[in-house]
Amino acid sequence: MRVAALFVVLFPAAIAADSASLQADWAAKEAQLERLYARYWRTEYQIARGDSKLSSLEIQKQIREAETEPQFLERLKAAKFRDPVLRRRQELFLDEVVVNRISSDDALTKLVEGITTDEAAMRYSVGGKQMTRSELNNLLGHEQDRELRRQAWMAQQQLTAKTGERIRHAMQMRRALAAKYSDRSFADLMLSHKGIRNREQLLAWFDEIQRTTEPEYQKLLTQIRRELKVETLEPWDLDYYFSTLNGGFEEKKFVSERAWDQVKRVASTLGYDFDKLPVDTTISEITFGGGTYPILYRREVKILVNKYKGLRFVDTLFHESGHALHYSYEFEPQSSGSSQPSFILQSSVAEPFDEGLGQVIALMIYRPQFAARVFGLTSDEIKTINETYRLKSLCDLRGTIADSMFEFAAYQNPDQDLAALYDRMASKYLGVPMHRGGTWAFDPFFSSGPIYLQSYVLAEMVGRQVHHALDNRFGEHLGVDAGAFLKEKFFVRGGRLTLDEIMKQGTGEPLTDKYLIRALVSPGPAE
Ligand SMILES: [Zn+2]
Repeated sequence: MRVAALFVVLFPAAIAADSASLQADWAAKEAQLERLYARYWRTEYQIARGDSKLSSLEIQKQIREAETEPQFLERLKAAKFRDPVLRRRQELFLDEVVVNRISSDDALTKLVEGITTDEAAMRYSVGGKQMTRSELNNLLGHEQDRELRRQAWMAQQQLTAKTGERIRHAMQMRRALAAKYSDRSFADLMLSHKGIRNREQLLAWFDEIQRTTEPEYQKLLTQIRRELKVETLEPWDLDYYFSTLNGGFEEKKFVSERAWDQVKRVASTLGYDFDKLPVDTTISEITFGGGTYPILYRREVKILVNKYKGLRFVDTLFHESGHALHYSYEFEPQSSGSSQPSFILQSSVAEPFDEGLGQVIALMIYRPQFAARVFGLTSDEIKTINETYRLKSLCDLRGTIADSMFEFAAYQNPDQDLAALYDRMASKYLGVPMHRGGTWAFDPFFSSGPIYLQSYVLAEMVGRQVHHALDNRFGEHLGVDAGAFLKEKFFVRGGRLTLDEIMKQGTGEPLTDKYLIRALVSPGPAE
C-alpha cells in the first residue's frame, strides 16, 4: 500500500518533468527546422530565378539530420499526450520524418536536382527557333497557325528525350526508399502525407467528375471542331481554342503590368492590405507557372510568377496571392492555450487545402463584383470569361486527372513503357490522340513534385465549395466581413485540423465535389 502510494506520488512527477523537457527540446527542434527551411526556401527561390550555381543539397541533408536525430525521435515516439494539439503535432512530426527520409535521400536529391537544372536550361527548337517553356506555352495558347502549334506541341518530346529516363529512375528510387522506411507504397505514403487519407475516395471523385461532365465535355469537343473548322481534333487545338473565346477584350482587360495592383484592390475590398503583409512579388522566366515560398510563416513570403500573357497570367498571380495570404496569416499554436506558433503544424498543412486557398482568390476574378469593378468588364464580358473558364476547366481538369492517374500507374510499375501508358491515359480523359505519348515529361511535377497533381483537382473542389459558402453567407457582394470570415475559417489554418474538419467548420460540409461539378455543367456566370 505504501509502496503503491509512493509510486503514485513519484511517477506522475517524473513523467511531467520529462514531458516538460521533451516539449522544450521539441520547440527548440522546430525552431531549428524553421531556420533550416528558411534557408532551403531562399535557396530554392534563387534557383528558380535562374541562379544555376546554387544547390539546396547540403541544406536538405542538414534538415534530414535535424529531423532524424535518434535520441529526440525515440523520446517523441514514446511520449503519450492528452492534449489533442500535441498529439496531432506529434503525428505530423513523425510523418514528416518518414517522408523526408525519402525525399532528402542523397542520391535521389542529386538526381532530381540534375533533372530540374536541365528543365530550367531547356530550349525547345520549333520551326528553326529556340524557345523557352513560357514561349512554347504562349505559342500553344495563342498561335493561329495550326502547323506551328503542332510543331510546338511535338517539341515537348524534346524534354522527355532529355529527362524521361532519369525521371523513371527517380520513380524507382522513391519506390525503393518507401519500402525501406515505411510499410506503405510511395504513392499511398505521399497521399496521406498531403492530407488525402483515402485513395479510394480520391479515385471515386476523379471518376465522378469524369462521368458527370462527359456530356458537357463531348459538347465542347464538337464545338471546338466546328469553330476551328477541323475534322479531327488534335491536342495542339485545345489550349489555343480557349484563347479565341475571350475575343478581343482579354488582352485589353487583363494586362500583366496592372495585375498586381488588381490583386491589391480585390484584397483590400476583403480587408487585407498587401502593403502591410510580408509579401514580395517577382515576375521572371521560370520552369513552372508560378510559386509562392513560405520562407518564414507570417514574416517572409515570396511570390514568383512566369511571364505569361493575359488572363492566364492574372489567374496565376491571383492564385499565388492566395498562397501568400495563407502563409502571411497561418497560425497554429504549439499546444492548446499556447501563444507560441508550431512550425510543424504550420508547414504540414493539407496540400489540397493549401492549393485550394490559391483557387479561392483566383476565383475572385470571375465574380461579377470584381470582374466589373476591378477589371472593368461589361456584363457580357463577365458572362464570357465565366463560360470560358468553365470550358477550360472541363478540359484542364481532365488533363490533370489524366496526368495524376498516369503517375499512380507509373509508380505501380515504373519499368513499363511510360509513353504508351501516358498515351492511353491522356487520350482516354481528353478524347484526342496523343501521338505515342512522348510529351509526358513536359509536366514538371513528375520530376520534382511527385504525387502532387491530384491536389490541384481537389483544390478546385475546395475553391468552389468555399465560394458557395461565401455566397450563402454574404450574397453576391463580398466585403470586409467576408474577408474576416475567410481569414478566421481558412487562412489561419495549418495542419492541426484535417482537410475535412477545416471544410466542415468553414462550410458546414466535409470536402465534396458537388459544387465543382455544378460549376462545370451549368453554363452562365457563377450565381
Ligand atoms: Zn499553388
